[in-house]
Amino acid sequence: MGCGASEFENIEQGAIVHGLDPKTLLEELNASITHTITPTSQARYRIEHNIPDCIGCSACAAIHPNNWEMKEVNGEIKALPKKEHFDDGEFELNNEAAEVCPVNVIHIHDQKMNKKII
Ligand code: SF4
Repeated sequence: MGCGASEFENIEQGAIVHGLDPKTLLEELNASITHTITPTSQARYRIEHNIPDCIGCSACAAIHPNNWEMKEVNGEIKALPKKEHFDDGEFELNNEAAEVCPVNVIHIHDQKMNKKII
């Protein structure tokens, strides 16, 4: 609610003051938010990386340097993914990076099948 008179109003009160149906307004706001995050959530795969347990061996970055890089995190060298969401074209190398990890801290979640692959 953007006008000065709306201070301390909640969304329902603001909608009513402006002659809007609160339920419709909330549906439209939620649709707007969903639309904003859709590009990220539409990628098929999502990386789950347990950063605290990464021992910084660089094996993942050696296998797939386009997506894994070594950086200092709280005084320790850790691997970090450049992209956490990706599609089929990037699956093989990210999967190899996960397989080569000696402490199994890289996991790949298939969002289409709703299951953890590795
Ligand atoms: S392979 Fe595993 S332990 Fe080694 S840097 Fe990558 S995430 Fe960390």
